[in-house]
Amino acid sequence: MYTAAKPRYESMRYNRVGKSGVKLPAISLGWWYTFGALDNLANARAIARRAFDLGVVHFDLANNYGPPPGAAEETFGRLLKEDFGSTRDELIVSTKAGYDMWAGPYGEQGSRKHLLASLDQSLKRMGLEYVDIFYSHRFDPETPLEETMGALDSAVRQGKALYVGISNYTPEQTGQAVRILHDLGTPCLIHQAGYNMFNRWVEQGLLELLDKEGIGFIAFSPLAQGRLTDRYLKGIPPGARASKTERVWRGLTPQDVDDSLAKVRRLNEIARQRGQTLAQMALAWVLRKVQVTSALIGASSVEQLEADLAALDQLQFSAEELQVIEDILQG
Ligand code: NDP
Repeated sequence: MYTAAKPRYESMRYNRVGKSGVKLPAISLGWWYTFGALDNLANARAIARRAFDLGVVHFDLANNYGPPPGAAEETFGRLLKEDFGSTRDELIVSTKAGYDMWAGPYGEQGSRKHLLASLDQSLKRMGLEYVDIFYSHRFDPETPLEETMGALDSAVRQGKALYVGISNYTPEQTGQAVRILHDLGTPCLIHQAGYNMFNRWVEQGLLELLDKEGIGFIAFSPLAQGRLTDRYLKGIPPGARASKTERVWRGLTPQDVDDSLAKVRRLNEIARQRGQTLAQMALAWVLRKVQVTSALIGASSVEQLEADLAALDQLQFSAEELQVIEDILQG
């Protein structure tokens, strides 16, 4: 029997999502890994509970998170029933549609057919009447954007989502999507895209655009899937993400780890001088941008989660530190 910790709102900071009425924790928890059918349920439960107890009230899912696809939402459904039922209104739960989910022409991409059918499936798996945020997971070049955005608008009008967002859209696609949603009367709440020291495309116009439009930004994989931590400093440990081969699409390969290791070692030294772990410095670095509403982490243990949340104790950088980091990243 789980009872949420009383002081759960004392240490987290909450940032306003663009110009909306809603706030998100500075660090949110993603359910891509760790919450599937191949993972340990007791561990998943412990991570979700600890996150909530520490003020992480945003859980980010997608139709296809698992494995198998759908399993993370089923795990969420179970935990909602058994642990979080009475605290549903304290949570922001998001899901997405757009990547491969079921067989045939309607199982992916941006059609109205895919998005709305997928959302119905997600709600069923999670045992929810509505999600807080429903995302178009990726831009579909073959579907009119009006159709994809129209489906998001319908989800809100049908009471199945409170807010909508887009993920992985370029600045140009974002500009168009934002205009269509605005005209439909369902504003775009938030954009979700990858952002970390090794992946900085959002700095080329997207963050600026979102700022101008009053839209929030949530940065996925702020730890570069574990590379921006001490996880791989002594090789690839068994069970680490880069060792996992059972996924249909592998998130991180041993080659990725190798390619970044020299920079990671140097960054690790800077973090040590700042009195932080590399993971903590990497999160502070993502959060240094005012446009970043939340850093969306993954964690495979309670210890990782707790260590990552401690990043909030030291978010400041001196100009010199930022320059040294920049030199390492550009080197
Ligand atoms: P991160 O970059 O935070 O990587 C998480 C991984 O880093 C963990 O699984 C763990 O790896 C390792 N790690 C975390 N903390 C520590 C620590 N303190 N010490 C050592 N290692 C640590 O994020 P993810 O790539 O997991 O993505 C987060 C979320 O973003 C996803 O769950 C999903 O919700 C969202 N996302 C969205 C996408 C989209 O297209 N919209 C795409 C990708 C992600 P290990 O498992 O090896 O222990």
